[in-house]
Amino acid sequence: MSGDPHKTFYLETFGCQMNAHDSEKVIGTLLNEGYRQVETVEEAGLVLYNTCSIRDKAEQKVFNRLNDYKKYQKQGKKFGVLGCVAQQEGEKIFERAPHVSLVCGSASYRNLPQMLVQLENAQLENAPMETGKSGPPKPKARSPIRVTGLDDRETDECFETEFTARTNPHRGYITIIEGCDKFCSYCVVPFTRGKERSRTSDSVLAEARQMADLGYTEIQLLGQNVNSYKDPAGKPGGKKTFAELLAAVGEVPGIRRVRFTTSHPRDFGRDIVEAIDSVPTLCDHVHLPVQSGSNHVLGAMQRLYTREQYLERIAWMKAAKREISITSDVIVGFPGETEEDFAETLSLLDEVGYDAVFSFKYSPRPNTPSLALEDAIPDQEKARRLEVLMARQREIQIARYKKYIGTVSEVMVEGRNEARSQWIGRTSQNKTLNFTAPALAAPKVGSYVPVMTTISFPNSLLGEMVV
Ligand code: SF4
Repeated sequence: MSGDPHKTFYLETFGCQMNAHDSEKVIGTLLNEGYRQVETVEEAGLVLYNTCSIRDKAEQKVFNRLNDYKKYQKQGKKFGVLGCVAQQEGEKIFERAPHVSLVCGSASYRNLPQMLVQLENAQLENAPMETGKSGPPKPKARSPIRVTGLDDRETDECFETEFTARTNPHRGYITIIEGCDKFCSYCVVPFTRGKERSRTSDSVLAEARQMADLGYTEIQLLGQNVNSYKDPAGKPGGKKTFAELLAAVGEVPGIRRVRFTTSHPRDFGRDIVEAIDSVPTLCDHVHLPVQSGSNHVLGAMQRLYTREQYLERIAWMKAAKREISITSDVIVGFPGETEEDFAETLSLLDEVGYDAVFSFKYSPRPNTPSLALEDAIPDQEKARRLEVLMARQREIQIARYKKYIGTVSEVMVEGRNEARSQWIGRTSQNKTLNFTAPALAAPKVGSYVPVMTTISFPNSLLGEMVV
């Protein structure tokens, strides 16, 4: 089938690691259906966008992209929108981008094979010419092809497939929980990804063992709220808490690093810190989104914890035997955020000492409760707060990263930057540590090597391999 130009696809992914991993599953599913993946829109019969709707900008990007490639519709290319924007906008996408033929929400990927058959059949029925009883062929009236998969959100299962096409041969993702029951007032995820569904710990561990057998050494456990994991395992004694599952994955022979993202502060238990302390393969990095340092704003965001409760979790991590690197997400300019509220967020950055903060200006999203709140902070003021916050965090990072000069860390070799004659490495703490190595001792991509840090930057480190 690989010779059929219509059975070629191009897939572009927007958004988070969950989306990146969903794309790996979609690619695996399509390859199994006889499709061939290509590198450019020009070569593809089917052009797919796996979308993210968490921020207005990301959503806008998808529609811009669709608009840019509209011209290719005349060549018979089909366009599909997958993921959160598909789930959120549904059939409205056909109005906004009439050249789209396929709309498939994130909980309907398991139905993709049937949807693709529908698409192919519709394409045949819609062949451009029909032959008349006599005379030359006449153009046939075309009706737009519309295939949708949007109604599977309440399913009890996670999207598991044996056809995942993992793109990195050393590091692989495993989804352990999908959806979210938290309903933070600004967030679309509960509406686009549905309610929380956990996989059994047995199936997660089976996948981890299978990956170790295939040569993967790093596993990232994924979920919108990975630590809200609830094992549905039926076997007596088989049920595991999130911390127990984390430890069990870390003990799979051959696995050298285990990461997990994203954690919700309310469900972040001390047992997770204890697991990190006692299982060396669990990476000493926790991403714990705080969003705001003000209780007033946290309440309006419906985050379900206070500044004090958040800082208690930070204290557990700081009391750990290993030095745990902590990173976070912050939203500035949430409706009602005063200068005092914002100052509390800045003071929280100082108090925690994050190694990285992903900060965003608030933008109202469809269907979310915060839409009802007046978005009265002008964009210019939001931008100013964002700038102030980023400058403060940069100062914090400069001081924190400097501490690593003269220390030796184990890195996983991720690649080579030829232009700089450097190797690209990542530490267990999730820091980028690029390094030089003697040509005779050049490391292999995917291997683990010790590196001494010699120079620090605000976002990365530079060093030399210890030989
Ligand atoms: S916890 Fe809040 S921010 Fe995170 S996915 Fe759920 S609703 Fe969205």
